[in-house]
Amino acid sequence: MASQVQNAYRLLPSVEEVLARADVAALGARVPRELLVRFVQAELDLLRARIRAADLDADGTRAAAEALGAALAARVRREQASGVVRALNATGVVLHTGLGRAPVHPEAAQAMAAAAAGYCVLEVDRLSNERSQRDARLSELLCRLTGAEAAIAVNNNAAAVLLTLNTFAQGRETVVSRGELVEIGGSFRMPSVMERAGTRLVEVGTTNRTRLEDFRAAVGERTGLLLKVHTSNFRVVGFTEEVGAPELARLGAALGVRTAFDVGSGRIERPDARALELPEEPLVSAAVASGVDVVLFSGDKLFGGPQAGLAVGTRAALSELRSNPLYRALRLDKVGLAGLERTLELYLAGRADELPARAMLLADPARLRADAEAIARGLARLPGFQARLADDMSQPGSGSAPGVLLPTTVVRVRRAGLSTEELAARLRAGEPPVFARIHGDELVLDPRALLPGERDELVAAFARLAG
Ligand SMILES: *Cc1c(COP(=O)(O)O)cnc(C)c1O
Repeated sequence: MASQVQNAYRLLPSVEEVLARADVAALGARVPRELLVRFVQAELDLLRARIRAADLDADGTRAAAEALGAALAARVRREQASGVVRALNATGVVLHTGLGRAPVHPEAAQAMAAAAAGYCVLEVDRLSNERSQRDARLSELLCRLTGAEAAIAVNNNAAAVLLTLNTFAQGRETVVSRGELVEIGGSFRMPSVMERAGTRLVEVGTTNRTRLEDFRAAVGERTGLLLKVHTSNFRVVGFTEEVGAPELARLGAALGVRTAFDVGSGRIERPDARALELPEEPLVSAAVASGVDVVLFSGDKLFGGPQAGLAVGTRAALSELRSNPLYRALRLDKVGLAGLERTLELYLAGRADELPARAMLLADPARLRADAEAIARGLARLPGFQARLADDMSQPGSGSAPGVLLPTTVVRVRRAGLSTEELAARLRAGEPPVFARIHGDELVLDPRALLPGERDELVAAFARLAG
């Protein structure tokens, strides 16, 4: 047995021998040599481990050694297909977390690129040359837009929640309705965040009904915060009762306890913009007007800006958030600030409807139909593809407005001799990668979340597969 293992080991080529093979040497043009050497070592280590585990005999080892070129090519492919690159979103899901949520307005993108590539006026007042706060301008704009007295920006809404809990309730209790203990994808569970923020969770009410009396009864010496959380990604329907933000704010004010409302998506409506028909999503301005001390929302959901967590509210509460040392660790970077400022300026200039996420959510069904028809026409010209139009629904995404479906027209595609999964995989591996939905044995292309110009790029991606 031991000698068989020794024999199998001897059948393995050396690193140098593998690198000298023509197919492997060709891979050297695609990745740095140092990395290719590491890939070869890793593949040989895997084979040694399999020999040790008696998973490979002499014949198996020979075959595996032969197949090293293919295994290395797969590693190189994976290497080249990893990382953040632009993608085409043909899923129809506008706020697709896997694809980076809201695309920012081109002017915001420009401001972000400029801030990233060079120096910018960040923590200095250029008129007086005195030190200033990095988010002074942002705070001003957010106050104008939402009616709040003060505002700050942090890395994302999860950070805003963490900062709020830690500031007002560290070592104390946070009271939340049992019906609002949400989990927002990717392991953001309200109860676990509370634990890490150093506050003790006090749940009140039941899953479907919580009354103001439940909150009042739970408040005591140790209460630091009354928290309301918008149930972004699910809906409790039927026999339900929840405590509204105005009632919670009044109770907090009467008992001298801070109140916060995590509204999640950050819906903003303006008299000079079209209304998003998403009545279940709380309006930021209404949440502020309710009188709670702090309102929290994401920058990259319905708000339509870059990733950020925005906290708006009373001057006193916001000043406490700002003085928490954690704020220094969670604050937003110059790139995000530049993009948010520009996004807010667009809102305030009456140009909200130009924000890509809003434009996509408000897209005219007739325009979507025309886009789908153009895509179907393009695909019909390609050999091997079958495309047909169908009425369908798109989702806002990101847990925003669960149950809300927006009418759209999709293109359902098949490729002769290729499974739908394989077709989808090839599109994702392409350049730029294309993401679509799969329905039964058809690939579903929804034009809603395509940006201007991407329609033709989508057809071109299919043309590359046809060629
Ligand atoms: C999305 C969401 C969060 C998390 O926001 P991120 O910006 O993703 O960190 C927190 N609370 C609610 C209610 C949400 O909907």
